[in-house]
Amino acid sequence: MKPFAYVKAATPDEAVRACAARPGARYLAGGTNLVDLMKLGVESPEVLIDVSGLRLDGVDELPDGSLTIGATARNSEVAAHPLVRGRYPALSQALLSGASGQLRNAATTAGNLLQRTRCTYFQDTAKPCNKRLPGSGCPAIDGAHRELAVLGHSVHCVATHPSDMAVALAALDATVLLHGPDGERTVPVTDFHRLPGDRPERDTVIRPDELITAVRVPPAPEGSVSRYRKARERASYAFALVSAAVVLDVRNGVVHHAALAFGQLAHRPWRARAAEEVLLGAPAHPDTFTRAVDTELAAARPLRDNGFKVTLARNLAVGLLAELAAENA
Ligand SMILES: Cc1cc2nc3c(=O)[nH]c(=O)nc-3n(C[C@H](O)[C@H](O)[C@H](O)COP(=O)(O)OP(=O)(O)OC[C@H]3O[C@@H](n4cnc5c(N)ncnc54)[C@H](O)[C@@H]3O)c2cc1C
Ligand code: SF4
Repeated sequence: MKPFAYVKAATPDEAVRACAARPGARYLAGGTNLVDLMKLGVESPEVLIDVSGLRLDGVDELPDGSLTIGATARNSEVAAHPLVRGRYPALSQALLSGASGQLRNAATTAGNLLQRTRCTYFQDTAKPCNKRLPGSGCPAIDGAHRELAVLGHSVHCVATHPSDMAVALAALDATVLLHGPDGERTVPVTDFHRLPGDRPERDTVIRPDELITAVRVPPAPEGSVSRYRKARERASYAFALVSAAVVLDVRNGVVHHAALAFGQLAHRPWRARAAEEVLLGAPAHPDTFTRAVDTELAAARPLRDNGFKVTLARNLAVGLLAELAAENA
């Protein structure tokens, strides 16, 4: 690992100033992704600005019923929080399905959103990779891409975003709160991660030196139920092959509200807007669910070895919708 300087920030302003003052500075939260990548030589920051002491670790309810989850709140604490478990089961389930207990005790909200792809070429500095070294090529397209994207990819990158939590947040219409040199702003989680296009080195729309301070989740639609499901290759900790989060409200046999997001199909959590259009106002019937999910997945462009992910996503989402509809009828 290359030598680096270390600064512990006491306030968000101090963190942003410290980051802006030192080219090559990076924020450090739980370190479970960043430090791993530093050991591999993929990341080599000059300075680490430790944000774990910023007191951004609360989970708070606002007067309008929305929830603010602090950037440095640990994944395990958020998953166990009574308001999260009670109102947003999909979020709690997504967090609990991620990594291992020890990792969830260290990993934070912001770090989880900003974790980098698990594409093996990205992690191997002996190989070309447009995300790690722009312009060097994408060996995954013709190489090992079994776990990579089937939607929204480009000739420059076919990586997926690995976060489970982000998928549930996308279905729940959460927003990311950012604090930067130019002030504060919010970005919907669905717009926070980018599709690769011709700039795959940029995972998100975050600006230089911007600090995530929190994630805000609006009140769950009244009467709705939600669930997260993850298909993976082993029962103990493993990244998803495909995952799905569903928020559903059925009234008198008709879909009154539906939100569906997929994980590990694309460079970002994939909010299934085309499927939702089919679902809204339609009978809550397995035929509707299949038609809706097929409409969404018609845009899939699988690579040589990952067509199975389209079938897996279809079965996962149709099954989840049917389960929730039966419970919510
Ligand atoms: C073995 C293993 C298995 C895993 N399995 C899963 C899994 O199944 N599902 C899953 O979702 N994840 C999984 N993970 C990933 C894990 O969830 C992430 O490593 C973790 O969430 C990152 O959080 P962190 O706080 O440690 O971030 P860090 O490693 O500290 O930081 C990650 C990135 O976020 C930036 N950052 C951190 N905080 C802020 C902030 N407030 N503002 C701006 N930038 C910030 C850092 O600069 C860095 O770029 C796994 C990890 C490992 C090692
Ligand atoms: S898919 Fe993206 S991350 Fe993987 S090798 Fe290609 S450019 Fe790199």
